[in-house]
Amino acid sequence: MTTDFSQTRHLFDLPEGVIYLDGNSLGPLPRATAARLARTVTEEWGQMLITGWNRAGWMEMPARIGDRIGRLIGAEKGSVVMGDTLSIKVYQALASALEMVPGRKVILSDTGNFPSDLYIAQGLCRTLGPDYRLKTVAPEDVMAALDDSVAVMMITEVDYRTGRRHDMGALTARAHAVGALTVWDLAHSAGALPVEVAAGGADFAVGCSYKYLNSGPGGPAFIYVAPRHADRARPALSGWLGHEAPFAFDLDYRPHDGVERMRVGTPPILQLAALEASLDIWDQVEMADIRAASLALTDRFITGVEATCPDLVLATPRAHDQRGSQVSFRHPEGYAIMQALIAQGVIGDFRAPDILRFGFTPLFIDAADVDKAVAILAGIMAQRSWDRPEFKTRARVT
Ligand SMILES: *Cc1c(COP(=O)(O)O)cnc(C)c1O
Repeated sequence: MTTDFSQTRHLFDLPEGVIYLDGNSLGPLPRATAARLARTVTEEWGQMLITGWNRAGWMEMPARIGDRIGRLIGAEKGSVVMGDTLSIKVYQALASALEMVPGRKVILSDTGNFPSDLYIAQGLCRTLGPDYRLKTVAPEDVMAALDDSVAVMMITEVDYRTGRRHDMGALTARAHAVGALTVWDLAHSAGALPVEVAAGGADFAVGCSYKYLNSGPGGPAFIYVAPRHADRARPALSGWLGHEAPFAFDLDYRPHDGVERMRVGTPPILQLAALEASLDIWDQVEMADIRAASLALTDRFITGVEATCPDLVLATPRAHDQRGSQVSFRHPEGYAIMQALIAQGVIGDFRAPDILRFGFTPLFIDAADVDKAVAILAGIMAQRSWDRPEFKTRARVT
C-alpha cells in the first residue's frame, strides 16, 4: 500500500504541460494499459482465438473484476459484476427493485440526478404502465419525500454538476423504514471516496469504470446487488449469460445464482483488460488515503479561486461530508471560460447551464497542479481573455 501519491502520478501517461482536472469524467490512460491491451489482443485473441474464453479466463472476467471494484465500494465478495453501460445497469437495478416492492409505483429521485438515470426511469414507467411514475424533488428534500408511497429511491450519491454528496446511510435507513428499496448510483463515488454499500445497507448499486477508475472511453459499468436480494431479484434483462447454464442452450430462462444473473450478453473483453490494468494501481492504495488527499486538494482549490476570482460563485458544498471529489463554480460565461482554460492546458469541463467543473484525483494531481490551475484561471478572469468568439462556439461534447 502506498500513501505517497507523488509515486502514483508516474503510473499515468499524461500529455506534457496538461493539468488534467477531468479524471472524474474520463480517467486518463494508465501506463500499463497499452501493453496489457496489446497482450490481450495478440496473445489471447490472436493466438488463442475462441479458446480464450476458457484458456485466458475471459468468461470469468466480469465477476473477477467486479470483486476488485467491490473492495473499493465496501461490497461483499461475489456481489458485484461488470457489464454493459451504466444506463443499462440503472435500468436493470431499477426494474428489479421495483418488482420487489409490489403494490407501490413511485420511483423517488432528485433534480440533481444525471439525466440518463431520470430518462431511464421515465422510460421504464412508460413500459410498466400508467400508474408508475418518477417523482423528483430538490436534493435537500429527498429525506422528507420518503413516505409509504415510494417503491424505490434512486439516488446518485454525488451530484455530477455540483459535487454535492448525499448521506447514503441515513437515506437508506429512512427508505427502509418506509418500506422502500434503494438504488444508489456511484458514478462519481467509485474510486473518488470511500463507499460502504454493505455497511450502509444499499439494496442495489451501479456505477461506471471510465470516470475515476480509468478503464477508457466506453469501459463497462458495474452492478451490486445486496446478497440478501441476489437470489431473488429478477433481472429485467434476462440474457443468456445471466442464465444458470448458458451453454445448455435451454429454451427457457432460469436465472443464475447471485449477482451473475445481472450479466446480459458477451462481455467487452478488451475494455475489461484495460480496466484490469488500471485496477492494479487501485490495489496499491486505500480509499481513506485517497479521500484525505482529495479533500486537501478541493479545499485548496476553493480557497485559491475564491481569493482570486470574485466573479465565480462556488456551487459545491463547503462541508467535507457533503462534498464529492470535484469542485464546481458558476458563471454565466462558464463555457467560454472553460474553453480559455483548456487552451492554456487546464482541462476541466462545462455543464449546462453555467457550471465550470473540476475533478480532483490525487493519484495524479497534486497541490502544485492546483496552484498552477488557480493562477491560470485567475489570469483568464482578470484579463477577460475568455471573451473571444472562438471560445464561445459550442462543440458537440462539452
Ligand atoms: C456518467 C454517468 C452516466 C453515464 O451513463 P453511460 O450509460 O455510461 O453513458 C449515467 N449516470 C450517472 C449518474 C453518471 O454520472
